[in-house]
Amino acid sequence: MPSHNRRIFMLQLTAGSAALVAGRAALAQGAPMVNESDQQAVALGYAADSNKVDPKKYPRHVAGQTCAGCQLFTGKAGDVSGPCGIFPGKAVSAKGWCSAWVKKA
Ligand code: SF4
Repeated sequence: MPSHNRRIFMLQLTAGSAALVAGRAALAQGAPMVNESDQQAVALGYAADSNKVDPKKYPRHVAGQTCAGCQLFTGKAGDVSGPCGIFPGKAVSAKGWCSAWVKKA
């Protein structure tokens, strides 16, 4: 497994555990938004608008992929933002995207 994929897998594993521990309610209300310039956001290529993801830098990105459709997004359907297990204590834009995106089951 390439190191980038291994890193994302570990982040997802950690994120899933963190989300279970923290609980959705604690994260949902009043959480500050993830800033694209935050260190972890930069590392994962987070963009608040999925349409602005650089396709050369992130060839895995496919049009239509958004945080709202990601397994790690725990906001409610229709929410403009919500918690993401990758960014504990913060909210991501429902229209956003990062390289850890996983299709919601
Ligand atoms: S795509 Fe969005 S919801 Fe999914 S892991 Fe990245 S920031 Fe979180």
